[in-house]
Amino acid sequence: PPDVEALGRATWSFLHATAAYYPARPTTHQRANMLNLIHALPVLYPCTHCAADFDDKIKEHPPDVSSRERLSKWFCERHNEVNEKLGKEMFDCAKVDERWKDGPPD
Ligand code: FAD
Repeated sequence: PPDVEALGRATWSFLHATAAYYPARPTTHQRANMLNLIHALPVLYPCTHCAADFDDKIKEHPPDVSSRERLSKWFCERHNEVNEKLGKEMFDCAKVDERWKDGPPD
C-alpha cells in the first residue's frame, strides 16, 4: 500500500502550487483541465479511503476554478477539512500565497 503521509504531502504540494500559479483569468480550456484534474482524484488517488472522502467533499463543495484566488481558497478549505478530520492544525487560508507562491515576507 502507498505511504499515505508522504503521498499526501507530495499531492498537496502539487495541488496548492498548481493553484498558486493558475491564471487570475483562466481560459475555458484551462478551467476545463483544472476541473478534470480535480475530478480525477476520487477515481485515481491511490489512498482509496482518502479518495472516497474527497469525492464526498467535492460533491458538497463544487470546485471554483474561476480564478487563481478562488481556486487557491477552495483547495485550502478542502485541505483544512482533512486536517480537521486527522486532528491536525487548521491552516490560515490568508497565507496560501506566502506558503505556496511568494515565500515569507522579508
Ligand atoms: P500535510 O497535511 O500534507 O500538509 C503539507 C503542508 O501543507 C503543511 O506543512 C503546510 O505547510 C501546508 N498546509 C497545511 N494545511 C494547508 C491548507 N489547508 N492549505 C494550504 N496549505 C496547507 N490522510 C489520511 O490519513 N486520511 C485521509 O482521508 C486523507 N485524505 C486526503 C485527501 C487528499 C485529497 C490528499 C491530497 C491527502 C489526504 N490525506 C489523508 C493525507 C493528509 O492530508 C496529509 O497529507 C498527511 O497526513 C501528511 O500530513 P502532514 O502533517 O505532513 O502535512
